[in-house]
Amino acid sequence: MIVFGAILLSFIVPLVMGRSKIQDLPLGAERKYGLGGGICPKCRRPFALPLFSMNLGLSKLARCPYCGKWSAVRIQPLAKLREAEQAELEWGRAEVPKISEEEKLRKELDDSKYQGL
Ligand SMILES: [Zn+2]
Repeated sequence: MIVFGAILLSFIVPLVMGRSKIQDLPLGAERKYGLGGGICPKCRRPFALPLFSMNLGLSKLARCPYCGKWSAVRIQPLAKLREAEQAELEWGRAEVPKISEEEKLRKELDDSKYQGL
């Protein structure tokens, strides 16, 4: 029973913790900004600013839910935020398909096989 509980926990904990850490919204998805939104200066993705955050003039100190970095984020009008959403769509089109970790590892192994010759 204890073992079963431990297995269950090891499944649930990362699920709950992971969800609160970094959001993964599809590129270009329309967000709800509530009282105000800003665009992350690090990754250029728009997000809703938290209600209770430190004000720095026209900016707010906020943690970007996408890259997880803290920065002073300027409060943007909705039109600008929608523009940023559209910009994300453009990246989505330009993005090169990602190689999975497994494939990358296999490729590295293959490469190293021939290095000794
Ligand atoms: Zn960011």
